[in-house]
Amino acid sequence: MLEKSQQLLQRATKSIPGGVNSPVRAFKSVGGTPPFIERAEGAYLFDADGNRYIDYVLTWGPAIIGHAHPEVVEACQAAMAKGSSFGAPTELEIELAETMIARVPGLDVVRLVNSGTEACMSAIRLARGATGRDKFIKFAGCYHGHADSFLIAAGSGALTLGTPNSPGVTEGTAKDTLLAQFNDLGSVRQIFETFPTDVAAIILEPVCGNTGCIPPDPGFLEGLRELCDAHGTVLIFDEVMTGFRVGYGGAAGRFGVTPDLYTFGKVVGGGFPLAAYGGKEALMRHVAPDGPVYQAGTLSGNPIAVTAGLKTLQLLTPEVYEGLEAASLRLSEGMQAIIDKHSYPMTQHRVGAMFGVFFTDKTVHTHEDVHGCDLERFNAFFHAMLKRGVYLAPSQYEAGFLSTHHSDDLIDQTLTCAEEALAEVFAD
Ligand code: PMP
Repeated sequence: MLEKSQQLLQRATKSIPGGVNSPVRAFKSVGGTPPFIERAEGAYLFDADGNRYIDYVLTWGPAIIGHAHPEVVEACQAAMAKGSSFGAPTELEIELAETMIARVPGLDVVRLVNSGTEACMSAIRLARGATGRDKFIKFAGCYHGHADSFLIAAGSGALTLGTPNSPGVTEGTAKDTLLAQFNDLGSVRQIFETFPTDVAAIILEPVCGNTGCIPPDPGFLEGLRELCDAHGTVLIFDEVMTGFRVGYGGAAGRFGVTPDLYTFGKVVGGGFPLAAYGGKEALMRHVAPDGPVYQAGTLSGNPIAVTAGLKTLQLLTPEVYEGLEAASLRLSEGMQAIIDKHSYPMTQHRVGAMFGVFFTDKTVHTHEDVHGCDLERFNAFFHAMLKRGVYLAPSQYEAGFLSTHHSDDLIDQTLTCAEEALAEVFAD
């Protein structure tokens, strides 16, 4: 029952585009009414009609220690009472930077910003400023936020809504974004053959989470590292999604390949608008005021957001990641068992506490492979799960996430729902 949410949606659409402040929330591709959320706690969301859902979206990744963690709430309340923003430096910012640097390989210096978009946009500007080159390579289906130069074959909501190349991005901007295929080193080599000395950066999600969840093939990240070294190109890992999620040291730590620059967001902000970019000292010293590459923000390093991020990272010990790994393995093994038992034409992937379920029996290595998915079946599955109280991302092109509150019991409940839901989906 979504009566109240329906009323709220009707009211919202009058004053807000699509009734939402980020497109995928509107359920345009899956249809139906998005539940309007009233509160969240642990692994659960509660909507305006009093429905409760096991949440696998987790505010699109950040809530890795569960919603409204009491220690984060308490720390943020105390920080709030001291003033919500100073526009001046604080000791807290140093603590967060030092905590990140201690975990992530090759992260020497960090600048805090307010969103993943800002982090990626700033990292590209830095790579261009430091190399004196204009072009950069991105991969089809990877999403790096909504800055103009990234809305070329973008993933996530842009892909879900059928606008991977958005109107409003000028041809002049688009010409400097060069497109390659994820997990296809040949497509990158080809670009370097055409532009051997013009490519400032390669930016990628080391695990592509904005077309579902596509892990890097063995050798792919290593190959990019070598190509960047050979061409004087800056390698940027966009770890907005994977950072502090797929392991203690993020994707770079997990896969053993170190980029020159990183971008972070989601988990590092503990559910607040906080993100970051950082990396090698020599590159980061180009950033103002140490160097000439300008980037700034009124609310950057906001004390409440920094408190939430710092507390979250402190709670994320190596042992906690072991628990997350075990929980997500349980979910993915359970899903695979269901798929195998019924011979469903489905594929699923998992990297740490991040997963994707695809309605295709083909292997999924690239963005192209995802295009073969049965979107009607995905939409039916999404609604069959929602009806049973399991909240998944409303798009085939998004990853799912687990938190420390996703106990064995909740995972087993989810698997029971999934088996029933899939029986419904494949009934015809
Ligand atoms: N990069 C990646 C990998 C992301 O997943 C996202 C958001 N989903 C972004 C960048 C953009 O972050 P934000 O929405 O905070 O601007």
